Amino acid sequence: MMKRNMQVWALVHVLLVMDFSIEKVVAVVGGGDTACEEAIYLAGLAKKVYIVVRKSYLRASKIMQDRVLTHPKIEVLFETNAVGLFGENGVEGVNLVKRKGESDEENYSLPIDGFFLAIGHKPNSDIFKPYVETDETGYIITEGNSPRTRVPGVFAAGDVADPHYRQAITAAGSGCKAAIELKDISLPKV
Ligand SMILES: Cc1cc2nc3c(=O)[nH]c(=O)nc-3n(C[C@H](O)[C@H](O)[C@H](O)COP(=O)(O)OP(=O)(O)OC[C@H]3O[C@@H](n4cnc5c(N)ncnc54)[C@H](O)[C@@H]3O)c2cc1C
Repeated sequence: MMKRNMQVWALVHVLLVMDFSIEKVVAVVGGGDTACEEAIYLAGLAKKVYIVVRKSYLRASKIMQDRVLTHPKIEVLFETNAVGLFGENGVEGVNLVKRKGESDEENYSLPIDGFFLAIGHKPNSDIFKPYVETDETGYIITEGNSPRTRVPGVFAAGDVADPHYRQAITAAGSGCKAAIELKDISLPKV
């Protein structure tokens, strides 16, 4: 079980219900598949979407990179940090720094109507921490390639136990493994 949770993923979805129109300009922070996917989705609603990426490249898969880099409404701002937001009644703009710390560092502001963060993953596992072992990020630790946790009869399947692959098919596969493991568990007859 996993909340596939970019740290502020909830914010994204809250903001998605804001008064969107094709006149809006929005910024998405992040360079991975999530940021690209979100940018493409938003480009269907907004006039312009900026993707703010700290690095000089996107981490996203090649296909997602191609989609955003060729999308007429999406502009990727490479080597750029978002350092603050401003606005009186909600977001009116974002303060950006290009090539932060370099001799040609450039500070500027971009008027935007919406700001979306798509960075980092944090498993929604806090509720289970008293019972099963987790790593420092919160991924539930299982035994090797199995979904067994240290607690007999308790299995962790899906993204919540997978810091690496985090794909629908691998999540489903680990769920299947957990189901197969059940045959070794003696459950009370009801
Ligand atoms: C933007 C984005 C794009 C993606 N694109 C792809 C893709 O193209 N292909 C691909 O294979 N994968 C993709 N993924 C990854 C894929 O969505 C996940 O790997 C998959 O959904 C993981 O499944 P899961 O069951 O482990 O977790 P989830 O799908 O997150 O399901 C966890 C469920 O547990 C529930 N839950 C959480 N806490 C509790 C609780 N305490 N009690 C009860 N229920 C609870 C949640 O509500 C949720 O329904 C994408 C993910 C994102 C975010």
